[in-house]
Amino acid sequence: MNVEQAIEYVKKNNVKFIRFQFVDILGFPKNVAYPVKSGEKGIEELREIFENGVWFDGSSITGFVGIEESDMLLKPDLSTLSVLPWRPEEKSVARVICDVYRNEKTPFEGDPRSRLKAILNELKEEMNGEFFVGPEPEFFLLKRDPHNPHRWIPADDGGYFDVEPLDEAPDIRRDIVLALENLGFHVEASHHEVAPGQHEVDFKFDNALKTADSVVTFKMTIKNIAKKHGLRATFMPKPFFGMNGNGMHCHQSVWFNGEPSFYDPEGPYNGLSETCLSYIAGILSHAKALVAVTNPTVNSYKRLVPGYEAPVNIAWANKNRSAIIRVPAARGKATRIEFRAPDPTCNPYLAFACMLAAGLDGIKKKMEAPEPVERNIFKMSEEEKKQLGIESVPANLAAALDELECDEVLQKALGKHIYENYMEIKRAEWDDFRISVTDWEVSKYLIY
Ligand code: GLU
Ligand code: MG
Ligand code: MG
Repeated sequence: MNVEQAIEYVKKNNVKFIRFQFVDILGFPKNVAYPVKSGEKGIEELREIFENGVWFDGSSITGFVGIEESDMLLKPDLSTLSVLPWRPEEKSVARVICDVYRNEKTPFEGDPRSRLKAILNELKEEMNGEFFVGPEPEFFLLKRDPHNPHRWIPADDGGYFDVEPLDEAPDIRRDIVLALENLGFHVEASHHEVAPGQHEVDFKFDNALKTADSVVTFKMTIKNIAKKHGLRATFMPKPFFGMNGNGMHCHQSVWFNGEPSFYDPEGPYNGLSETCLSYIAGILSHAKALVAVTNPTVNSYKRLVPGYEAPVNIAWANKNRSAIIRVPAARGKATRIEFRAPDPTCNPYLAFACMLAAGLDGIKKKMEAPEPVERNIFKMSEEEKKQLGIESVPANLAAALDELECDEVLQKALGKHIYENYMEIKRAEWDDFRISVTDWEVSKYLIY
């Protein structure tokens, strides 16, 4: 969309407010709303900000800058201009996703979106490559516990693929899918997930930048539609002990010179190319540090435990879902790997930048993938796993951050500003958790 087309869109959809949107270092969406004025003068003003962007104070945004250097510019990516379906139809509200700049010419090195863009540009320039991602974010719909209004509990008792009346959310998922379609999503499927109150809505893969934008929009949409139905949506990785958690498996592939690179009809495992196997090896070799970005919260590591369909073991497989990487059966253009570790609390821009950096490191160094592990790793003894060289993901956020501190490839992918700020924020988060006293401890140790 060029500036004139964007102005037409605003007129045609009776847009009264335009939200200039970006994310902080943790991936939380932030915005500032600009009211569209009527008449020729109003359109002139709109043209001005569509062309040049809007200034804002970046000092209170997590992981951005200090107060002494707070003026920053939001430059809109007009291709993302879209009416928000959960806001009023009359005098509607549109959002446009922006890149953050230090001044007219210099992108801000702490902006996650600009960081992913830079990484994707490097891939294009150095190797004529493109990176595609298809995520599967899961979430819970929650209602207030009638016996304790401070507690949130699953909104229904349904399970995997259940139908109504066990599944109590078909109308909510319907509204979610319709809203996503209005926002330009190509929705592929929606269903009740394994845990009570848990759901999944899948949308079509696309290039990594567009997909990262989509993940942010997707989460906003689901939370807002759930709220309209009097419920709360959460993407927290493990809201309830003893139930499945929320993953965000990421299907992914790299193309070179406009051609898919993961398929080779002559290759092993029914047609995997050397490039694909090296990409897998790259992800596996960086996995321990990578999860510090793809699984970024204290709670993330309560999902990565045996028994709940979430991966724990650093291995790959063709069918086996207990491995951190699975290669789905589809071949040809659709050949891709599924990285199963990520959860939806990750900042998708940073997570995709780091996944790509890990995989590309494997390709550049021609790393060799180990043999796939087709047996259920959850059922192997520690001795067997040791013999096969299968390691586990870090046990907690602190251990993952220690790994990231040793991983120069991923540090480079994040860039100095983001890496340093990220470390500081996440170390503080861990410390906060470390010194807090949990209900579990009280119930366990009060007897002493
Ligand atoms: N909820 C599972 C996880 O935490 C995934 C279930 C599935 O395979 O869809 O990763
Ligand atoms: Mg699922
Ligand atoms: Mg999956």
